[in-house]
Amino acid sequence: MKIDGGMVNAFIEGKTEVDSKTSEMIARRRALLGPAYRLFYEKPLHLVRGEGVWLYDPEDNAYLDAYNNVTSIGHCRPEVVKAIADQTATLATNTRYIHESILDYAERLLATMPDEIGHMMFTCTGSDANDLAVRIAQSFTGGLGIVVTETAYHGITQSVAEFSPSLGENVDLGPHVRTVPAPDTYRLGETIADNFAESVAAAFADLKRHGIKPALFICDGIFASDGIYEGIAGFLKKAVEATHAAGALYIADEVQSGFGRTGDAMWGFQRHDVIPDLVTMGKPMGNGYPVAGVAVRPEVVNEFGLKARYFNTFGGNAVAIKAAAAVLDVIENESLLANARQVGEYLRNGIRAMQAEFPQIGDVRGAGLFIGVEIVRDPETKEPDMATTTEIVNGLREERVLISACAKTANVLKIRPPLIFTRDNADYFIAALKRVLKTCIN
Ligand code: PMP
Repeated sequence: MKIDGGMVNAFIEGKTEVDSKTSEMIARRRALLGPAYRLFYEKPLHLVRGEGVWLYDPEDNAYLDAYNNVTSIGHCRPEVVKAIADQTATLATNTRYIHESILDYAERLLATMPDEIGHMMFTCTGSDANDLAVRIAQSFTGGLGIVVTETAYHGITQSVAEFSPSLGENVDLGPHVRTVPAPDTYRLGETIADNFAESVAAAFADLKRHGIKPALFICDGIFASDGIYEGIAGFLKKAVEATHAAGALYIADEVQSGFGRTGDAMWGFQRHDVIPDLVTMGKPMGNGYPVAGVAVRPEVVNEFGLKARYFNTFGGNAVAIKAAAAVLDVIENESLLANARQVGEYLRNGIRAMQAEFPQIGDVRGAGLFIGVEIVRDPETKEPDMATTTEIVNGLREERVLISACAKTANVLKIRPPLIFTRDNADYFIAALKRVLKTCIN
């Protein structure tokens, strides 16, 4: 089976039968949107509305959403909808005018970060944020060299795609990019901290040897597309030290792990007791409204700011900021960090309880409500089982429960429900997974 840029469960034309209406829409989509788009699942899903943790198809069938981390406080949250509507009806201008909400929001957001991080710049997407962060890091260091994990995804601009190996082998990495293996705690156990830091140091040494000055090490706070490795808290610290020793900066890509996803903290990097030079964020920041950004140490962006002006037409516009502020309100008011920790733990334990019956569940890991379940042929050899993983993802879709898969070997179930997930939702998920495992395994 071919892994299409990490999307193992993508719909493949002609592979499965779909009804005539779906088939018609797929053909129309292909004709209008062109060849670059992919659809999830062997039987693609047509959705028309969402509410809380549920998504609905045209027949009003409900699907439990255990995947979409953008709408992390629940689909169509009334608080965010109202904030967007009110602000759109009042003023929708950009950052070239003085506006108080952006200041209030930046203040609130920076207060969730270490004191060393003092500025907040706004963009529209995570790719946009990473692109800007890299420009700043390259300008500060005077280097170009970038170190990333081997199945990382950081976005789609030209410069960011060049260090997003999960886009697949047809998308070339830049000559200034080196990859390091993912911190595979399942196979390497507690040696991971030294092992990972050594790989990062070696990658920087290799860049230097080829005349490429180091600029940055970037990693996603939970290694989402690499296979979801929360690692032992603190394991990242040595890799960050190796980065600084090479004269490079550390960019924490919090697009996946930010805004409480990992449960025990607002940001994924906080589990590791490290202070990034730059932090990028996006996805759940506006619960569906496009808003993203870069938080940065003042000394890192100072010269860049004097040399280059920064303006992003929609980034940080008044409406985006109101949406983002409403998201922070809900996270705080509903104690969603604690909920993510508690329900995440409950869900992981529920899945672990199935390991005795299904030993092909090799590893259950993650932090908060970001859970990875590694499917193997045999727990002794730990040989990845991509085919069964794909079957499980599609089987759950038939059960009307939505997840996906990740990792270089595409054998890790990627479970990432909204942060408002309850224990009842977790029980519903576990029961569906059990039914699917009974049909896919044995
Ligand atoms: N970084 C990470 C870790 C991501 O997962 C993504 C999106 N999947 C991005 C960056 C890019 O974000 P966007 O799609 O908003 O450009």
